[in-house]
Amino acid sequence: MKPDQLLRPMPDGLYCPLGDFHIDPVRPVERALITHGHSDHARAGHGFVLATQQTLDIMALRYGPEFCGSAQPARYGERLDVGGVSVSFHPAGHVLGSAQIAVEANGLRIVVSGDYKRDSDPTCAPYEPVACDVFITEATFGLPVFHHPDPRAEIEKLLTSIEQFPERSHLVGAYSLGKAQRVIRLLRDCGYDRPIHIHGSLAKLCDYYVSQGIDLGDLRPATLEKSDPSAFRGAIVVGPPSAFQDRWARRFNEPLVAFASGWMMVRQRAKQGGVELPLVISDHCDWPELTETIRELAPAEVWVTHGREEALVRWCELSGIPARPLYLVGYEDEGD
Ligand SMILES: [Zn+2]
Repeated sequence: MKPDQLLRPMPDGLYCPLGDFHIDPVRPVERALITHGHSDHARAGHGFVLATQQTLDIMALRYGPEFCGSAQPARYGERLDVGGVSVSFHPAGHVLGSAQIAVEANGLRIVVSGDYKRDSDPTCAPYEPVACDVFITEATFGLPVFHHPDPRAEIEKLLTSIEQFPERSHLVGAYSLGKAQRVIRLLRDCGYDRPIHIHGSLAKLCDYYVSQGIDLGDLRPATLEKSDPSAFRGAIVVGPPSAFQDRWARRFNEPLVAFASGWMMVRQRAKQGGVELPLVISDHCDWPELTETIRELAPAEVWVTHGREEALVRWCELSGIPARPLYLVGYEDEGD
């Protein structure tokens, strides 16, 4: 059997003709298998959704309980049958509930890794390598220049800044699913035990992480009835990046804007976004992680879904592994 008969790229995402299902479709479909809760992968309006319980819960939190016709939870490692095709979900280490999806028929196994990382993250289950014939990988940071530093060292920069500028409110931009909770957890692991203030839009997801056993410490809303700028003097306020670009941010005392993202490697991006303190913390693989993962799995073939496809495809070819870009569109990750 040719891999294309098992999974093929279509305008609405990867499609399995044998089992008649899509993986992370970008448009509403009959049957969808979802790798994780980021909005570019998990969309509302599908007839049936198969995903981990945590991803289903996150989708319900974001879209409401009617986000799909019917849903089925998948446990990590459990083999399920979808239209005669064997599928299983495996931890991807990206955000809470994130999974790689293995699709198997007639002795051919394709692994769709969704978004994944190898770096340690106390807020989700760690990535597990899954042997396969075809490995489908993203390439968000698929250029040799991308080396993500130790996230704890980045958090230490934030703590140092608070020591140096005790009057200033430190506003930390972090995407609401995954990154925000990881930043908060990292702060706790680095010994920061003061209250952390969060933007209202993070509350539901932070509560959900706590309900799943991720201790985030003392979280308080970053709101005041009668705005008093001094109230947040020297405080850490975590919010979605968009929040710090509008009026909301101006209530804070001498705000110092930080942003936690893999893109903060790119100085220009930080500058353009008015970010004073860039924190390079990514929920994606950097170049060494991408290439080491492919080396470790040694698949017969690699398909690259989105991001910087060309460099990774070239690297695979130079390493003797046939590879091709899929040019899937619609995956502008909200959680980089
Ligand atoms: Zn993602």
